[in-house]
Amino acid sequence: MTNSSKRRIGIMGGTFDPIHYGHLRAADEAHAAFDLSEVIFVPTGHPPHKVGDTVSPAEHRYMMTVLATVDCPYFSVSRIEIDKTGKSYTIDTLRQLKAMPEYADTEFYFITGLDAVMDIVSWKNPEEIMSLCKFVAVNRYGYTYKRMEELPEDLRSAIVSLEIPLLAISSTELRDRIRRDRSIRFLVPPSVEHFIRKYLLYKVR
Ligand code: ATP
Ligand code: MG
Repeated sequence: MTNSSKRRIGIMGGTFDPIHYGHLRAADEAHAAFDLSEVIFVPTGHPPHKVGDTVSPAEHRYMMTVLATVDCPYFSVSRIEIDKTGKSYTIDTLRQLKAMPEYADTEFYFITGLDAVMDIVSWKNPEEIMSLCKFVAVNRYGYTYKRMEELPEDLRSAIVSLEIPLLAISSTELRDRIRRDRSIRFLVPPSVEHFIRKYLLYKVR
């Protein structure tokens, strides 16, 4: 399945509002399963799928992603989307990464949860996305791989499933917990919780 002559790098895109252990485990599982040399976390700048919702400032989401990944030697964070003006589309990010000389001989593994995979038909240029990377679908609480049968065959056949231990954590639930003064301990790294408390994130939305 893997091409050993090429370097393999994972890309974990997300709003990360806030980043949590569900994201980190998914990235770590993919790192091991596909023998990735690293996983690059790419916080979205202006997420096209979250219009209408209030999203925290990109710099805050970027900082939390850095804090959460800093102690893992094979995790890094890219500013590629947050430094861009306008909406963030995965296809543009992939094209940009592919064009960089340092990634000339790299095979990208784009890591997403099953919920995000089911949305792929609504993304910009899904077929081209599939042609530029391997698309990995990790299981997510509330979603089954059977749902993937609803996807068009050409897209579905390009997706690799990866079963990981389920962590039923979502950023939506974390924001809700903070608003309601409930604990988020053991759901996010301590540094992320400290950042949230220091900058009073999610208190009023
Ligand atoms: P929100 O509730 O705000 O949508 P989220 O928890 O879904 O937040 P995102 O930033 O939207 O987090 O997700 C980024 C990527 O990580 C998506 O591909 C999503 O499917 C995946 N992901 C998020 N949480 C988990 C989890 N607990 N287990 C596996 N994958 C996850
Ligand atoms: Mg989500």
